[in-house]
This record gives sequence, structure tokens and C-alpha cells, in this order.
Amino acid sequence: MRTSLLLLLAAACASSRSGQAPAPPAGPGPSVNPTAGASTTAVPSADADPAAPRLRLPETARPVRYRATLTLVPDRDDFDGVIEIDLDVQEQMRVLWLNADDLTVRKAEARVEGKTVAGRVYAQPKDYLGIGFDPQLPTGTATVRIEYAGKLSRRDTGGVLKTQDGGEWYVTTHFEPIDARRAYPCFDEPSYKVPWELALRVKKEHAAFANTPVVSREDGGDGMSTVRFAPTRPLPSYLTAFAAGPFERLDAGKAGKNGTPVGVIVPRGTGDRARYAVQISPQVVPHLEEYFGSPYPFEKLDSIAVPLGRGAMENVGLVTFGAPILLVRPGEETQTFRRSQTSVTTHEFAHMWFGDLVTTAWWDDIWLNEAFATWMTGKALEPWFPQWKIDEQRVSIRNVAMAADALVSARRIRQPIQSNDDMVNAFDAITYQKGASVISMFERLVSPEKFQRGVRRYMKDHAYSNATAKDFLSAVSAEAGMDIEPAFSTFLEQGGVPLVTAQVSCGTSPRVVLAQERYFPLGSEPGPDERKQIWQIPVCVRSGKERFCTVLTSQKGELPISKAACSGGLVPNDGASGYYHAASWDPRMLQNGGKDLLHVERVAALDGLGALARAGRMEYS
Ligand SMILES: [Zn+2]
Repeated sequence: MRTSLLLLLAAACASSRSGQAPAPPAGPGPSVNPTAGASTTAVPSADADPAAPRLRLPETARPVRYRATLTLVPDRDDFDGVIEIDLDVQEQMRVLWLNADDLTVRKAEARVEGKTVAGRVYAQPKDYLGIGFDPQLPTGTATVRIEYAGKLSRRDTGGVLKTQDGGEWYVTTHFEPIDARRAYPCFDEPSYKVPWELALRVKKEHAAFANTPVVSREDGGDGMSTVRFAPTRPLPSYLTAFAAGPFERLDAGKAGKNGTPVGVIVPRGTGDRARYAVQISPQVVPHLEEYFGSPYPFEKLDSIAVPLGRGAMENVGLVTFGAPILLVRPGEETQTFRRSQTSVTTHEFAHMWFGDLVTTAWWDDIWLNEAFATWMTGKALEPWFPQWKIDEQRVSIRNVAMAADALVSARRIRQPIQSNDDMVNAFDAITYQKGASVISMFERLVSPEKFQRGVRRYMKDHAYSNATAKDFLSAVSAEAGMDIEPAFSTFLEQGGVPLVTAQVSCGTSPRVVLAQERYFPLGSEPGPDERKQIWQIPVCVRSGKERFCTVLTSQKGELPISKAACSGGLVPNDGASGYYHAASWDPRMLQNGGKDLLHVERVAALDGLGALARAGRMEYS
């Protein structure tokens, strides 16, 4: 054991100097004994264990850089890992707290000012790893090194996962929001954005992928190869990713202003199912670059088909897709398949800017990432595929949101995070569809051009860093020349759908008398606070080609209109761009199949009339 320990220390020091990922534990073949390399320092203390943090890690230390080496053999049910974390220690500490879940720590130590300090691993409460140091870690820089083992899960949806295709096992990852801690002990919070250097030890015949390009591949004498990846740009743990197995990478060419290499990674022998993915992936990039006004911000862009996977995840440079989204047998490629894949790909690639280049600082603002990517998908696809009638899809998205939001118990978009469950539950229709609909409404309020300038300003000011929803609203407000935050916040900070009454009043000063209340379907039991709720609502009405807009900031308000509009029929929600139900529809506008309505307004009218019926507010006369 002593020999082993010396080898480990020598390897760690060497790797530290070279800046490479740490070497794996001495002699760890794929069948390593889980207790090999264990020392007394890794045995949980018999002393009283220190209290674990709650929800957030203490801010007494920050990561500066990670170097991790993982040994991945897809046939196994576990993996070995070594991670070195360069730290900036803000306050001297006896216990370093990291996030970790379902990891078996074999050994932990720190290097401080050239000396090695053995770490004492405390009993691991869920989600945390406490490492005690005596003497304690002084303020300044230190490097902690941890040897551990983790699980390759067949059942979970987060962590390091293994799935089968064609009789072969494949390893992939999914970390958002809080499952990177199942792959490595780390600071698993989105505000800790630092470079990662990953190395994967994989079987000689397997491929290995991560967020960045491969810089070297060395075959060892033990049937394993070590694949080293270029250091990443600053990334939060949840956006790191890796994969190993008998994958094949199809070259999809280069895309965008920087000629970024684009690829599609598929299980062995399924390349003929990726025709559309290879064609469409590189085409998405220029559409997004054009909107954001900046080149694709990372080194490469691979899409990887995960066997038996569902959904997709915007890992930087290694975007995962459930295989059915990305792959289809030749001859079975339908319009629906193409549209679905293009939409999901555009959503995920939009995150490369919104979420990955600029990351929200905490999970209470995750709505902004998802709402924006959902909204951006329509924005990019509308001019590109006009035959898909994206504007009508926008209204359908709005209708989905309003259905979920009609409940008295509907949560607000910006939900305070009080537990891990709140982080996981944040990914719902309120975040995606309501968030996107509210963004759409405010884009219309300030004008698409000014809104786009606000987005670009936000990207520029916070590139490769973190920001908040407040930063985003400030950037848009600065470009718009109006402070949208007070009005926007009324939609962020409270649940529910506004119901707007728009009563035309003709006479010497033609106007629309507006009133608002919260919409409740029959059977709801709202409390007094819900009954009193009001928003600051951008309201636009239309008569023929004339449009009249205002922001309804209190329970009642007025909107001046023209004399002509007074006598013609009035659409209470022009272009269905407002996030509200109309309390009534002018019967003249609904005649003849609503031929005087825009297509999107017809979609909104059908949904709105149904909502009125469900609320007992429909006038049937
Ligand atoms: Zn998303």
C-alpha cells in the first residue's frame, strides 16, 4: 500500500505540473477491486460528523479548475474516477464541503504550498461530501484530489447512464440540474463556472467523447486507451458531459462564422439513420449566429443519439438527444420527424448562447434559459420554414401555458428554490410555454429590433459568465428606452392568467374601457389575494388594420381608439400576442368562421371561447 500511495502522489504532482488530467489510480484495470487504494484517511470518522450544508454549499471555497479522469467500461455497473480541484480558499477551513451523490470515496487529500495534507472523509449525507483537514486548509490556493467510484446506472435519468443498442452497452450522461455530483465530487451549482479538463479511460475498441475536441489518445498495455480532451471554456458542472462505447461519429462538416466542426454521433451500425441530422445540424448554426450577432461560442458541436434516451440536453459541444429524435430508418423520414428534430435541435443549439455562454446564476432563474430557448426556436424557424406556420404554433404554446396556468394552484414562473425538488420541478409548462409566451408579449411591446439589441447586449456583458433574469430585463430595458422590469415581474412573480374586459365606448372620445381580473374556471376556490391579483399587461386591440396598444397597469384603464375603430368590430387581443384571455368577443368578428380574424387570432378565439365556457362566462345569446 505504501508503494501504491507513493506512486499516486508522484502521478498527481506530475499531472499538476503538466496541467493534464490526473492519472488514474495505480493498476486500475477494468476489474479493479473497489477497496484497492483505500487508506485509513478514507474511512469515515468515528467522531461526530460535522453538519452538512443545506441546499447551497458554503462560500468559503470556490473551484478554479477541475481535472478529472474517469475509467468507463460500459459492461460494468460502476466506474472509477480521480478528480483534482484547484481551489480558492476564502476562509481557512477544517471541513471542505462538496456535492457528491452515490459516490464511494476511497481517498482524499489536499496539496497546499507543496505539502500533502491527508483528508478525512466523513460519513456521506445525501448530496454532500465532507472532507476534514488537520491542519486546516489556509486561505489561498489549494488542490484537493479525490479517488472514488461511481455507478453506471441503467434505471436513473440523471448521472452516468448505460443503455443498450444492438446488444452493445453505451455510456452517456445527463446532469441537469443536480446530477453531475453522481459523476464527480464537485461544486454542483450553476454559478461555479470554471474550466474542466477531462480524460476518459475506455476500452481500446471504444470511442470517447466530451465537451471539447480530443487532444490525445494513448493506448495502454491493458486493453484500455486514455483519451484526453482540450480544457473547456468556463462551464458549470451541469453542462459537462461525456460518452463512451462503440459509437461512430459522422462528420457533418463545418458551420458558422468560425467554421465550427459539427458531427452526429450514433450507435454502431446506425449511421444510415442519421441522414437528416447530418444535413440539418450545421444549417441551424448560422440562423442563431445571425440573431445573437456573435459566432458559435465553443470549439465543436456534436449531437449524440442516446440509445433508449428521451428528450435532449444542451451540454456544451456534446448535445444529447433521445435516439428517436435524431435517428430514423431510411424511407421512414416523415415531415413530422423532420420538423420535430429541427425544432429540438434549434432549441438545444440556442442554449449554446442562452444558458451555456451566459448561465443563470441559480436555479430560480432557470425559467429564463428554457423560456428563451423555446421562444428562440420559433424566432429562428419562422423565416426559415414559413410552411410550418410557426406563428400559429406560438399561439398553441400560449394556449398550453394558459391551460396549466388556469389552476388556482398554478406556480409562478420565477419560483423560489427551497429544496432539490424545486430545482427538478422547475422544468414544466409554466417555465417553457408560459415563459416563452411572456417573452413574446414583451418583445412585441418594445419592438423586435430593440428586443434583439437587448439580447445581444446581455450576451456581450455576461459572456462565459453568469447572470440573472434581472440582468436580462435591464439589458432589454436599456435598449428599449423603457423599464420593462416592473411589468415583466408581474408575470414572473405571480401565477395565473389575466382576464381582460375590453368594452368599446363611442362618443366624442372613442375609447376602449379596460378592466382586468384573474381568470378562474368554474369550481375554483380562490382566496382573497388571488381575487385581488392584477398585472401590468401589454394590451393591444385591433380593428381592421388599425392597432391600439397600452400597458394596463391597474385594475381599470382606458385605451383611446379612432372613430373608425369604434364602429367596426374589435379584436381584443391583436395577433394573440398578449398573455391574457379576453372576457368577451365581438360576435361580428366570429361570423363566417372568423374570416376577419388573423389565423393566429382564430386559434386564440377557439381557445378563449372554450376558456370562457369553462369559467361560466360565455354569453350564449
Ligand atoms: Zn431547453
